[in-house]
Amino acid sequence: MKKLLFLFFIFSSFYSHSQNSDKPNVLIITTGGTIASKTNAPLVEGNELIQAIPELTQYANIEVEEFVRVGSSKMTPAIWLSMLKRIRTSIEERSDLKCIIITHGTDTMEETAFFLNLTHLSAIPIIMVGSMRSSNEISADGPANLLNAIRVGTSPEAVGKGVLVVLNENISAARDLLKTHNRRVDAFKSTERGFLGLVDPEKVVFYRSPKNIHTDRSEFDIYDLDSLPVVDVIKDFAGLDGDILDYFLNRTNQGLVVSSFAGGRVSNGIMPIFDLPASHKPIVISSSIKGGRIMGANPNGTPVVIANDLPANKARILLMLALTKSNNPEEIQLIFNKY
Ligand code: ASP
Repeated sequence: MKKLLFLFFIFSSFYSHSQNSDKPNVLIITTGGTIASKTNAPLVEGNELIQAIPELTQYANIEVEEFVRVGSSKMTPAIWLSMLKRIRTSIEERSDLKCIIITHGTDTMEETAFFLNLTHLSAIPIIMVGSMRSSNEISADGPANLLNAIRVGTSPEAVGKGVLVVLNENISAARDLLKTHNRRVDAFKSTERGFLGLVDPEKVVFYRSPKNIHTDRSEFDIYDLDSLPVVDVIKDFAGLDGDILDYFLNRTNQGLVVSSFAGGRVSNGIMPIFDLPASHKPIVISSSIKGGRIMGANPNGTPVVIANDLPANKARILLMLALTKSNNPEEIQLIFNKY
């Protein structure tokens, strides 16, 4: 814990000392992850990470700020919240910022991107970027990904598309991003909705815009909160013991997500949630199957909400935010239908 608090100290410095007014101003916030790693060595400090790629300054005047330096499996809602506040302060301090780039580990890239997509109430683009290979591996992918992230963030078309993730020359919407491989550089897909666009050496190409509400149209103004509601995820499996459900229902959480079988079907151990009153803390059912959505409506008179096509990790984030607005399952269902 002490170590984590230490890492919250913010180191900031201008990397492109000679600001060129022809080039856009970009803030890079670093948070650690493989993109900041060397095999068998501690994670690299933010400035050092960026200075190792001098080509970046061809595209922008760059300011670097290290926010945390962690493997992203150690990300937490507390870090998300304080990073969101820091982003807002940066925008207020620097009205000339064209975009913000966040370097991040790939393990929880989907979660941080979705969280910011719903809570960064600004049209200034946030582009998240990581890598699958460490910086000292042959054919490291971090430098090209970072360069592409800057090209996307400074492209006029990035405005209004929400938080974007750039990896392996693909542009994903935060809501649709899906990590699908443990190791390969093409680990990230974009659900069945497909990528938003791609980054060619010649130009940045967008094919479509995200449909769900995000960023400057989102209702989740949480800048004044000190913490976020606690939501747990319970993974269903064949023969799940009802004691496990009881444990999660009795924990001090404000909501629960069940990662269910296909179509929202659940084991007998989970079935008692359908007998709970609507006044019980909300329980969202999210399918663990990556394709398609859960059909039908949320059952009336119960606390159950349907996640549609949102996977459990993102359903948890949306429920955390929805709980800042309402405890009512019908109202929370409307939120899930919009975002
Ligand atoms: N260890 C890494 C992380 O921080 C994995 C990665 O970045 O690809 O998530």
